[in-house]
Order: sequence, then C-alpha cells, then structure tokens
Amino acid sequence: MPLEADIAANFADVRRRLDAAAQRAGRRPEDITLVAVSKTFGPDHIRAAFAEGQRAFGENRVQEAAAKMADLAGLPLTWHLIGHLQSNKARRAAADFNWIESIDSLSVLQKVDAAAVEAGTRPAILLQLDLALEDTKYGVAESGVLELAQAALEARAVDLRGLMLVPPYPERAEDSRPWFQALARVRLALVDRGIPAERLAHLSMGMSRDFEVAIEEGATMVRVGTALFGPRIAAAGQT
Ligand SMILES: *Cc1c(COP(=O)(O)O)cnc(C)c1O
Repeated sequence: MPLEADIAANFADVRRRLDAAAQRAGRRPEDITLVAVSKTFGPDHIRAAFAEGQRAFGENRVQEAAAKMADLAGLPLTWHLIGHLQSNKARRAAADFNWIESIDSLSVLQKVDAAAVEAGTRPAILLQLDLALEDTKYGVAESGVLELAQAALEARAVDLRGLMLVPPYPERAEDSRPWFQALARVRLALVDRGIPAERLAHLSMGMSRDFEVAIEEGATMVRVGTALFGPRIAAAGQT
C-alpha cells in the first residue's frame, strides 16, 4: 500500500471538509483543531501525517502511546489522551500527554492532578460527559459535571479547558446533532453556574462519521481516525 500517498489524500479531503463545515457555520477553520486519532497505527502512519503538517494526535491507551512517543521523540507533536484512564496509568499519562480529554470522575481527576504535580507538568484537561447514560461508555453524568468542574478549577496542576463527548454510535451523521447540541448546552449551564467561560472554551466532539455536524454545532476539536488513516484492525478493548 502506498501509505504516504493515501494518508496525504485523506488529510487533504478531511481538511477540505473541515474548512467547508466551518464556512457553513460562519466559523474560522483555524479555531478548530483536527486531532488525528492514531490508535492501533504505528509511528510510520504518524510520520506520514506529520509530513502533511499534522501535529495533534489522539491515543486511547497510555501504554500503546508511550511506545510511539519514544519512537517519535524528536518531532514537535501534541498528544491527546482520548480513552478512559485507569488510575494505575495516571502517572504516565500526566507525564506524557499534553491534553487529557477523558477526565470522567473525581478520583481520576485527583489522581491525574497529583501525578502532574509530581511530574512537574500542567496537562490541559477536558471533562468527558456521558449524556446518553450508556452502560458501555465512560463519562460523568450531567448531574455530576458541576461538582467535577469545580474540583478541576481547584486542582493544583491540571488546566481545565472544556468538555468532551463520545455520543452513541450514529447510523447517520445527523443522529449525533442532538448530542452535540446537548454538550453545548451543558457548557452554557456550567458557565451560568459560575464556571468561567474561558475555562470551558473547548468542545471536543465529532469523529470520522460526524465531524462536520460537530463543527456546525460548535466543536473546537474533532477527533478523526478512520477518515485519515483507514480502517483499524479490531483490537480487544478498542472503542
Ligand atoms: C477511536 C476514537 C475516535 C476516532 O474514531 P473514528 O471513527 O475512527 O474517527 C475518536 N474519539 C474517541 C474517543 C475514540 O476512541
């Protein structure tokens, strides 16, 4: 497979669609970060994406990411953790990731914050919501997010920057729109309750199937894997 050529074409296509969605929504494309989800793919895919100008990468497993980070240590990349964080991986996550998008409970928040203090890092964090209350999904319920946001504001090292959502798997992109609108409403409700708007500036929502709809509904980060790197070989525990 001509890896570089495929990846170059995919990035051109996704960027064109991202720009068009921003245009439709009257937004600036530069206000939307494309996070290239490289889980299950190796360093060669990341290098090919880097050659296309991509800098932000999303990984869902701390251990798997660490191996790639070591391999790519010379490159100026920004790493986003997008999968559930087990507490025994908090130290490594706080040391390695620039963004931790999957803060989904007080205990994870506290463990990451303590680990960041110890590591001397200041990871940006997002609070992951579970609005559909799916058994299979991680995330804090809407009823618990105010308490989590308040705790995040009081944290010593981590830097609260916004909210993240993985909605129920959509048959069609439009199926995700009500969930994206709901996340935007949660953000407004938190600001109403006194969380400073600038600490909730980011909404990470939208994946390969529905990132254009997410942009129309205010996403500032879209997490796109398949549309950039092609289908993943299914691995145990992969989302
Ligand atoms: C895998 C994953 C993505 C990317 O999914 P695609 O459908 O391949 O774009 C985005 N967000 C999270 C949390 C993921 O686990």
